Amino acid sequence: MGLQAFVSSRLVTPEGIRPGALLIDGETIRGIVDPGEIPARYSLEDFGTATLLPGLVDSHVHINQPGRTEWEGFCTATRAAAAGGYTMLVDMPLNCVPATTNVAALTAKREAAHGQCWVDWASWGGVVQGNQAEIAPLASAGARGYKCFLVHPGIEEFTMVGEADLRAALPAVAKTELPLLVHAELPGPIDSATSRLQSEDWRHYATYLESRPDEAELGAIRLMLRLCREFKFRLHIVHLATAQALQELKAARDEGLPVTVETCPHYLHLDAEKIPDGATQCKCAPPIRGDKNRESLWQGLRDGIIDFVVTDHSPCPPSMKRPGDANFRDAWGGIASLSMAMPIMWTEASHRGFTLSDIARWMSDKPSQLAGSGARKGRLATGYDADFVVFDPDSEFTVTQNHLHHRHPISPYLGETLRGVVKRTYLRGKPVFREGAFVGHREGREFRQ
Ligand SMILES: [Zn+2]
Repeated sequence: MGLQAFVSSRLVTPEGIRPGALLIDGETIRGIVDPGEIPARYSLEDFGTATLLPGLVDSHVHINQPGRTEWEGFCTATRAAAAGGYTMLVDMPLNCVPATTNVAALTAKREAAHGQCWVDWASWGGVVQGNQAEIAPLASAGARGYKCFLVHPGIEEFTMVGEADLRAALPAVAKTELPLLVHAELPGPIDSATSRLQSEDWRHYATYLESRPDEAELGAIRLMLRLCREFKFRLHIVHLATAQALQELKAARDEGLPVTVETCPHYLHLDAEKIPDGATQCKCAPPIRGDKNRESLWQGLRDGIIDFVVTDHSPCPPSMKRPGDANFRDAWGGIASLSMAMPIMWTEASHRGFTLSDIARWMSDKPSQLAGSGARKGRLATGYDADFVVFDPDSEFTVTQNHLHHRHPISPYLGETLRGVVKRTYLRGKPVFREGAFVGHREGREFRQ
């Protein structure tokens, strides 16, 4: 370690992409200089035309440990993250057991994570029925904010909340000044569509799509905007899938409401028309919608209505994807993509005229700001953690199971040819992933203020 200089003709800084040298002292970026100005006492590594970006930050990941480590775990999730160019993950308060709805559960998660992590991590707390008294203690204990579900989350130990539960919790949430992340789908439209579709063929993706209509998302977003106006808390809409909500979200922002929005690579890359029957690896909630909707989501990103892109990495054991009957109703919903998100996004973004500065903003700076780590992670800038990724934006590769690295190598992207290769990932000055292999030790730690 000590003093290191990393040179590239393409450094992605907040001011733009430039040739330069990243000067690193121990775990911290000391400065960015022209390649000719590197002080003699720095050791030097030249990456040529490979691009240096800030390490990616994913504020929406389900690590599932403790309690469901057979689905995923700190070691396997952070390994997949390092291979994908991520240097910090923020874990959701479910599907681990216990769910992170009180301080004792957060402590249990810390014990499970200890010594397991290839990259840094942090945790959201949960807002569930009746846990208002836990909200302030969770903030004091280091939770980055809160997550709630307006619809059944698919597991039993994390209860969904309705308007009455939210009214009980929101004064405490607002007081912490931390964000509330909301899974915005209402059960009403989903339940009535599902019962109407009961005798349909659930191997068809179209049946599943019809069971989770745009109205479920729209109704939930309207409810949350109304509560945001009343309680003045920081509202964050997770995994927006319907482009029909964009104008109302823009109007809310224009009105001055503190609302932010994320979407995921799968909503920006896949479309319902091309999902084959039985392809339950493509099931997630809200569902991947049509091609026209996908293009509107890209426009939402372009217009800044959607702030950033996270994976919602949510794996499960292979049997839960129902390979036997390929039934979309009963298969677990979740797409695991930590290792593939950056090439997926670059493949889609580059041919739409976006740059790696946009990728850095969507996949590092903005999610880091949501997690309250924006002053230390998410940028190549003086004083920031020396987290960075060496990315070859011009090469292509075809996705195989060897590229995935999470516990069960299930993915909708197998066999696809993607643009952009993660060559190396550095965590606080040290390489953790290099040319396809993991190097060094598991030195990832929890991000604390
Ligand atoms: Zn999620």
